[in-house]
Amino acid sequence: MPIDPARYVSNILLAESCNRPLLLQYLVSLQSEYRHIPAAAISALSSTLEIPESEIIGVIEFYSFLHLKSRGQYDILFSDSITDHMLGSRILLDQLCQQLNVEVGQVRADQLVSVNTTSCTGMCDQGPALLVNGIAITNLDEPRISLISQLVESGADISEWSNEFFTVRNNIRRKDILLSCMHEEYDRQQALQQLVDPLPADILNILQSSGLRGRGGAGFPTARKWRDCRDADAARRYVICNADEGEPGTFKDRVLLQSYAHQLIEGMTLCGHAVNATHGLIYLRGEYRYLLDHLQAVIDERRTAGLLGNNILGKRNLDFDVDIHLGAGAYICGEESALIESLEGKRGIPRKRPPFPCTYGYLGEPSVVNNVETFIAAAQIIIHGAQWFSSSGTEQSSGTKLLSISGDCKQPGIYEYPFGTTVRQILQDCGATNVQAVQIAGAAGTTLPPDQFDRVIAFEDLGTGGSFIIFNQQRKLLDMVQNFAHFFVHESCGFCTPCRVGGSLLKDLVDKVHSGHGSCHDLDEMKRIAGIMRETSFCGLGATAPSHVLQTLDSFSHVYVERLSQADYEPAFDLDAALAEARRLAPHHCKSNTDS
Ligand code: SF4
Repeated sequence: MPIDPARYVSNILLAESCNRPLLLQYLVSLQSEYRHIPAAAISALSSTLEIPESEIIGVIEFYSFLHLKSRGQYDILFSDSITDHMLGSRILLDQLCQQLNVEVGQVRADQLVSVNTTSCTGMCDQGPALLVNGIAITNLDEPRISLISQLVESGADISEWSNEFFTVRNNIRRKDILLSCMHEEYDRQQALQQLVDPLPADILNILQSSGLRGRGGAGFPTARKWRDCRDADAARRYVICNADEGEPGTFKDRVLLQSYAHQLIEGMTLCGHAVNATHGLIYLRGEYRYLLDHLQAVIDERRTAGLLGNNILGKRNLDFDVDIHLGAGAYICGEESALIESLEGKRGIPRKRPPFPCTYGYLGEPSVVNNVETFIAAAQIIIHGAQWFSSSGTEQSSGTKLLSISGDCKQPGIYEYPFGTTVRQILQDCGATNVQAVQIAGAAGTTLPPDQFDRVIAFEDLGTGGSFIIFNQQRKLLDMVQNFAHFFVHESCGFCTPCRVGGSLLKDLVDKVHSGHGSCHDLDEMKRIAGIMRETSFCGLGATAPSHVLQTLDSFSHVYVERLSQADYEPAFDLDAALAEARRLAPHHCKSNTDS
């Protein structure tokens, strides 16, 4: 018998800590305990934390993984990424729903199971994938789906399911300087010593000489960000690791978190030392919840070894510790200011910038926000030297980049390349042939046609957070366009009109063209709406959301033209069809109207 929700809040959640910024973490725990957030728990949180109930409900409604109504005992979410579609996920979803007698988006009447879709789960190299109660299962096929159905019907606890179900592979296919220099077994004490021995000013100078730029895609110089944070006038600063890689087709941080977590914490500790921060936070995307125990174990191990906490390595006043916060299914929280809002327990609405997080970040204090790859690279640069790093890459993009390669190729997985490598070389290495297009940097990135495959991965040419999705000539590119258009409507935070409404209008037009009912007029309208979104959206999500539409209209116009209907224009709303049901229900009334 589960404990009463109000008592759970007061005796368990708030007994350990009673902290407004932890609201989202409390809600994640409640969701896991009760399969929804009970009204009594909302009420208890509201009165203790002094937050209006309406605000708490607003937070719950913002995140895809939180619910006001109960989900099934087994809550199954199919990854809805285009790469999962390409691997046959829609057929498997139908199969599962049929076998379990449940509809997509519904909870079965006996509350045993609920099935739905979710945005990319970061398993694109081993899809199709799903999450069951937040834990990933990859490499789905018909036998696996049947087995899952049987296990669900039997009521077997997930802890009793075979471990093989939950194996997530690293699939590291190519190592360059960064991955080659890191090993799972090494002297952690000595490594950390190398990082905290130099003075902060020297660390910043080495990073500046190395030319390290943020690996999330925007490429902001890391040394400048850290220096701005250090120079900001404040008593307290924070180091934040953005482990919320939600861009469809990106999964390299997942591998780094799995196999190089110590090196990540070392990078964060280095940053804490360099900017004079004592507290670090890892924002772990909800889809990677299965990594939570592993990361916590690494943190605990380092605390025990004196590598985290107070007086690290016996050095007086060298204090640094790290906490993990779980996300709850919101792509926008990968944007650094939205991520900070989420860390503060709020809805992940992006902040107006400036001020930037390095001067006004978590709880209004200066904060460095970098992703997993950047922190790891920074630590290795201090260990191996600026020259070691900058001797790879190009003048403006030093070092290497980890790519998450998926789609139509023989060997999907993680590839590390020096910046400046051509797309053509990468396609050759991963066994991609007959390529129609490559989507670089995810849904918000660049759709590259074959005549541009000599372009290079670099901030000055094709900047990317790491997503690299390949489409061969057999693929219908409009499927990708439609998938991304739906993705952005789902993931818009809804704060500003151009993105919220424009994205929805754009999606409707894409659907219309995709279904073969579009006209040239619709294509012009798509361009017009995309232009407005680009120019007037509040944040980068809305500004980049129509990129794939504009680029495919430009470089792949034939895929649209082939699908246009013969009519010059066909209305999206079919009045006759809409009235058909009413006419059927009231034939006499309709007839008399017609007669008159
Ligand atoms: Fe939110 Fe989209 Fe506006 Fe960004 S552009 S603030 S995601 S509605």
